Amino acid sequence: MDIEKIYKESEAYLEGHFLLSGGMHSQFYLQSAKVLEDPSLAEKLANALAKEIKKSKIKIDTVCAPAIGGIVAGFVLAKALGARSIFTERVDGKMTLRRGFEVKKGENILICEDIITTGGSALESANSLKEYGVNIVGFAALANRGFCKREGSDLPQNKICKLPKDLPFFALGDFTFEVYSPKDCPLCAKGSEAIKPGSRAT
Ligand code: ZN
Repeated sequence: MDIEKIYKESEAYLEGHFLLSGGMHSQFYLQSAKVLEDPSLAEKLANALAKEIKKSKIKIDTVCAPAIGGIVAGFVLAKALGARSIFTERVDGKMTLRRGFEVKKGENILICEDIITTGGSALESANSLKEYGVNIVGFAALANRGFCKREGSDLPQNKICKLPKDLPFFALGDFTFEVYSPKDCPLCAKGSEAIKPGSRAT
């Protein structure tokens, strides 16, 4: 499955000059919501990801996604795995289980995002569920932003990846474009201004 081609065809692989949430600049930005707006495509991707995950023989009762970005991906993946779908959301900055969702001690839970960058939100979601005594069995995303080590890829783990090394991470592909600090940004050097994705038509 050519995840890069799918993102490009869905106009989800944006080219420009972007200011990312961590303050870094980039020539590219991934807008996964544009891929997932097509339910048939979302289902196709989830089925491909589920196929990879099933090879590991890991038992999964529930897929949990960090809101908002992960919700659709988590839902379609849960359907493909025959699992339950829940999500955590931030309340006063802390990832929390709300809306009547309940988890049981020993329940096997896979955390799913649309894209894993450093894996920070996914890890927070996992940690919030561990307080209930659940068993976190791994992490999944449609795509890997290239900093974490996914199953089946030779790309090494970057030190900014926050996912635990002892749990598997499944994704359909890696995106490995550069990010720059503002002072080293070649796009800034050419005189253009970095824009926050989502602030205009993005
Ligand atoms: Zn720049």
